[in-house]
Amino acid sequence: MNNEQLWQAILGEVELNLSRANFTTWFKQTFISSCENDKVIICVPSGFAKTWLEKKYHQEISNAFKNVGQINIKEIIYKVETRKVNPNDKNLKDINTNNKEDETPNKPFILNRFGLNTHYTFNNFIVGKNNELAHAACQAVAANPGHAYNPLFIYGDVGLGKTHLLQGIGHELAKRTNKILYVSSEKFTNDYINAVRGGQAKEFKERYRNVDILLIDDIQFMGGKDGTQEEFFHTFNELHQANKQIVISSDRQPKAIPALEKRLSSRLEWGMIVDVSLPDLETRIAILETKCREKNYKMEENILAYIASHVQNNVRELEGALTRLIAFYEFNNTQPTIDATKNVLSGILSSFQTKSTTPKTIIDAVAKFFDINIKELIGASRKKETVLPRQIIMFLMRKEINSSYPSIGQELGGRDHTTAMHAFNKIAKEIKEDERLKQTIDSIKQLLYNSCQ
Ligand code: ADP
Ligand code: MG
Repeated sequence: MNNEQLWQAILGEVELNLSRANFTTWFKQTFISSCENDKVIICVPSGFAKTWLEKKYHQEISNAFKNVGQINIKEIIYKVETRKVNPNDKNLKDINTNNKEDETPNKPFILNRFGLNTHYTFNNFIVGKNNELAHAACQAVAANPGHAYNPLFIYGDVGLGKTHLLQGIGHELAKRTNKILYVSSEKFTNDYINAVRGGQAKEFKERYRNVDILLIDDIQFMGGKDGTQEEFFHTFNELHQANKQIVISSDRQPKAIPALEKRLSSRLEWGMIVDVSLPDLETRIAILETKCREKNYKMEENILAYIASHVQNNVRELEGALTRLIAFYEFNNTQPTIDATKNVLSGILSSFQTKSTTPKTIIDAVAKFFDINIKELIGASRKKETVLPRQIIMFLMRKEINSSYPSIGQELGGRDHTTAMHAFNKIAKEIKEDERLKQTIDSIKQLLYNSCQ
């Protein structure tokens, strides 16, 4: 396995534990420049990214090296260094051009100039019963932007292809226009806050309102952010009136998004609403086949079928399992077999197990442990008896299921993300010094994992 392949396997691991937004923000343009003996040098594009990787993701990265079999690595060094890329470099071009030379099999994280992942094209999307309608609607929008369905609203659980579809539209339209904007709602929010702070509201408006297509991913995170919603509302109106296409994704239907203004959620229902759900076995096998092709790796169909029948929860996990298996076989320089796959996969599956933990199961476990009413926990009470349990909830949501700070704040009655961040840091620090707190949290975790199995 060369450095490139190794880093790809590591990214595949790390990706499983991070939100898409964090993942692309902190890991784009990273690479391994050297890996010798027990020392590896990871290059990052900026000092800022270096600090984040060192401070926030070091543990994840270090675990990932172990998980892909690199158990001898003792030292990980982060270094600011960018790889020279020519903007005309074929790797950066949209691979949806069907250009045979334009293969980027081992680089799933290369982004094109619009910030779109070059692998998230319609070509690479497998259509099954679970996403047929969503896929058709996306194609209609790509063929007739601003007129087919506006807005198009796609919803469904995590890891079922919403981002892929959104970006698929982006790639199609990139053939025709430069004015494409793909952002997560978290980025929209941050951009807006920064613009207001920096006195650049006008530039912000120009940027967001002067597009032919606006793709907003994971809009549920806008819940509770009144100022941002207001701004988005006006952006929406202006684009819609000018027949500019808007496509939105979410983990639930507009009406069900907590703390989203009524006038906004009703606009989100103006066009077409489609859902994506769990793919069936055949679709899962077909997805694995595509992913193997993308990675230029051959695996027998019966092995793919075995994987597909055991990883059922979502496509991201399915892909994560495949990436880890490939890394395993490449590292050990062996051909995939059913027996070895069974072994390796059982380890991978148990690492997915925590996924069945959700914000709700965490809140329930904490409420049960402290014997506090859930309403009170989520509510505004500042009583001492509720403050600590609430902070523990926030800590666990971050630590156990890697929820983003905005979503943690939202789960807890629409609190600000800085509150969640503060709670996490506070508990993380105290747990090191306070044995009782540590025990408390361990007991809650026991409750949590015993109750959701
Ligand atoms: P979501 O945004 O719904 O959480 P993503 O779009 O990020 O999910 O999908 C997770 C992973 O699964 C991505 O790597 C994506 O390419 C892959 N994926 C999901 N659905 C499909 C599909 N139908 N065909 C091919 N790949 C898929
Ligand atoms: Mg997504």
